[in-house]
Amino acid sequence: MITILGVQSLDGEIVDLTIPSSQEKILEAKGLTLFPALIDPHVHFRTPGHEYKEDWRTAAKAALRGGYTTVFDMPNTLPPTVTATLLQEKKALINAQLNDIGIPLHYELFFGADKNHLTEIPSVKHDIIGIKVFMGCSTGNLVIDDDESLRSVFEIAATHQLLVAVHAEDEHLIRQQKIKYQGATDYQTHSRIRNEEVAVCAVEKAIHLTRQYGTRLYILHTSTKQEIALIKQAKQAGLPVFAETTPHHLFLNETAYRDLKGKAVVNPPLRSAEHNVALFNAIHEGIIDTIGSDHAPHTLSEKEKPYGECPSGMPGIETTLPLLLNAHHAGLLTLDEIVALTSRRARAIFNLPENTDIVLVDLHKTAPVIEKNLKTKCSWSPYANQILRGWPVYTILDGICYKLETLS
Ligand SMILES: [Zn+2]
Repeated sequence: MITILGVQSLDGEIVDLTIPSSQEKILEAKGLTLFPALIDPHVHFRTPGHEYKEDWRTAAKAALRGGYTTVFDMPNTLPPTVTATLLQEKKALINAQLNDIGIPLHYELFFGADKNHLTEIPSVKHDIIGIKVFMGCSTGNLVIDDDESLRSVFEIAATHQLLVAVHAEDEHLIRQQKIKYQGATDYQTHSRIRNEEVAVCAVEKAIHLTRQYGTRLYILHTSTKQEIALIKQAKQAGLPVFAETTPHHLFLNETAYRDLKGKAVVNPPLRSAEHNVALFNAIHEGIIDTIGSDHAPHTLSEKEKPYGECPSGMPGIETTLPLLLNAHHAGLLTLDEIVALTSRRARAIFNLPENTDIVLVDLHKTAPVIEKNLKTKCSWSPYANQILRGWPVYTILDGICYKLETLS
């Protein structure tokens, strides 16, 4: 049993509590605040096929350091997770990697929608958290770019009561835009090619299909005020539409290209500052349900490549909670909104069972993001050297207490 003494609850009360455990441990938690452990509905831990960028041995430690004990991994690996066999093979690899480090991280897997393997969906329905649809190409080759296949996915998902998570960027618009900006070398071109219309058009299409089939729809990485307006409308109409945003769409914008260069390249791209504001407002209104780190590591040398060759994506799982807590101190978010974004809404949307996992946070610890201390294999952060106030100190997963500062 783990006994936690003198911890502050989210209501501000000082309480003692116990957590079932095979360890006998007493934690003096004076000055720390108790949060439910975080759930990350959107990570790319790169196994199989891209283990040089990240694997579950490094990523699980990064997750714990970020206060997370549950993650949902995306299917755009090499090979992509598009058949029952590939799904089982991926699980075996993940379990072996977690076993190596002895961290029983909770995870769920998304199944990739691929037009040649849609018939596999019914056979995996009890083993997956949902179906991931790339409406536009991102890392990997997984894409559903024709209306007929997209319609089939929504129909199959509705029949089998599966949730569809969409990467909502329209592939046809992206292709047109790429021709228009051919030869451009400025990293900021990325935001021009994958402009707001690219995302809005895809979200519109996905919501339309949900209206038609009743499919539960989870819109990944919402990044624009126009998408927010469409999602608001859909929710008001009673449609089962849920929305995620990311730390980078909340805390970064196009001005980041100047310093971060290729590190700022991400899909969907960074937008202008007005969209940051709109996203915070959408959180207050309950239009945005969750935050997904979209932890998508690439090596530094990959991110230093010129525009066009530089892959999209950035790491994020270790810095999301400190960024949110720092925003709380700046008056941008309440602690209850942070809990809703990082665990409560995800638990409800994805029907996750309750557990005893928690994270103990020092709301007032003020420290910079130090890249060499990060556990992610890529060892860099778009928030490097930023001083943030509010950091997790202990994460408790399945009755095992991890002291984050000394996690090796
Ligand atoms: Zn992603």
